[in-house]
Amino acid sequence: MEELNITRRKFIATTSVGALGTIFTATASSCGNTNPASGKLALLGGDPVRSKDWMSWPIWDPKAEDPALSVLRSGKWYREWGTEVKKFEKMYAELIGTKRALATASGTTALEVALHVLGVDAGDEVIVSPYTFIATYNVVFNAKALPVFADTDQETFTINPKTIEERINERTKAILPVHILGLPADMNSINAIAKKHDLVVIEDACQAWLAEYDGKKCGTLGDLGCFSFQNSKHLPSGEGGAVTGNDDSLMDMCHSYHNCGRAYGNTQGEFHGYAFRGGNMRMMEIQAVILMNQMNRIKADADKRLGNALYLDSKLKNIPGIIPYKLSDGADRSAYHLYPFRYKKEYFDNLPREKFLQALAAEGINCNNGYGPQYNDGLIEEALNSRGYKRLFTEQRLNAYREELKNLPDNDQLTQEAVWLFQNMLLGEKSDMDDIINAVEKIYENRKQLI
Ligand SMILES: *Cc1c(COP(=O)(O)O)cnc(C)c1O
Repeated sequence: MEELNITRRKFIATTSVGALGTIFTATASSCGNTNPASGKLALLGGDPVRSKDWMSWPIWDPKAEDPALSVLRSGKWYREWGTEVKKFEKMYAELIGTKRALATASGTTALEVALHVLGVDAGDEVIVSPYTFIATYNVVFNAKALPVFADTDQETFTINPKTIEERINERTKAILPVHILGLPADMNSINAIAKKHDLVVIEDACQAWLAEYDGKKCGTLGDLGCFSFQNSKHLPSGEGGAVTGNDDSLMDMCHSYHNCGRAYGNTQGEFHGYAFRGGNMRMMEIQAVILMNQMNRIKADADKRLGNALYLDSKLKNIPGIIPYKLSDGADRSAYHLYPFRYKKEYFDNLPREKFLQALAAEGINCNNGYGPQYNDGLIEEALNSRGYKRLFTEQRLNAYREELKNLPDNDQLTQEAVWLFQNMLLGEKSDMDDIINAVEKIYENRKQLI
């Protein structure tokens, strides 16, 4: 949650810069500066390109209030006593295009269920994308396995399949690609490698609702797919998640594991009592009510974001030093949880990215610098120095692993150059997109003012 919390804090902090801008615009705009790409930068006291707020998120629909109240009054808050979670699972499976969906307490627990059921065990290794929300690292550690980072393709922001095979060894059990920011990973290449080396594939689709690859939705392309419905996500219920899949016996195992190991469906077999381990990772009925209501808008929102993103692509790419994301081979559409581009400071007279972001915020466009090289943050060493990891892996392996963390050149560079626009901005109108484009152009044209 830390990275998302930081993101939200930064978002609020930069929003107040925008709000300050609002105070000044009333007088400043009377100066009649009509060409947004010229004039004094707002960071230096000029007129901001934009003084309006962006759409807030999430969006509450009063139509959810009656069904929510009736669940609250019924006292049936737990999925086994009600029907709402079951209904939601059916609807979500239909939306994504899988046979089954299992609702969970969070995206993190969805990933934990998937890793466990697909056999990721203590002492295994899992190939992971380093450019992701920290939960993707954490779930591998929680399984007492080693997250082995493949490098990132800077153009697509997703795992570079060409860097996967060299990291596979006899301990490798799974590949965990992330459709990060909503951008589909190159799943055909990843699945081919997995097949060749007999590995399972778990998709972290926690930012990729309705993203499409090869005519199919993300979350249907590996052995199991995992989603998050946390408050900031496109389908929000405060907390929540789902595992999606087509294999009934796997999905029955998922259900059993998320429900204290109680027998479910095919797992029942001949057994009596508790034949499996498990945990409690269940979704509450009230969350399902909120989610079923939020689902009413998800397709229209996705189309709106797509249209605006394509418009941004067409304009931003013409600004020197601004390189919008590229879809990976086979990808059809992103979910645009974030709209990313790379900022090449060489084209801005070496204006540092942080200064560029400050200038953008002052113009009323709040952006974020994205994920850092989180493998240097301390959590990896904390794990490797634990008694458990010292038992599970040889000292030689752990030392080699430490060296491998220094061999992620493309990811290291991407973390220096990425800029993200938030998904709620993409729910605006064309004129809102023009504000973004005009602000970036204005900073480019007037970059020398900041040097
Ligand atoms: C949000 C997210 C998760 C975790 O989901 P939670 O519901 O917050 O536990 C995992 N992976 C990625 C890429 C995410 O964005």
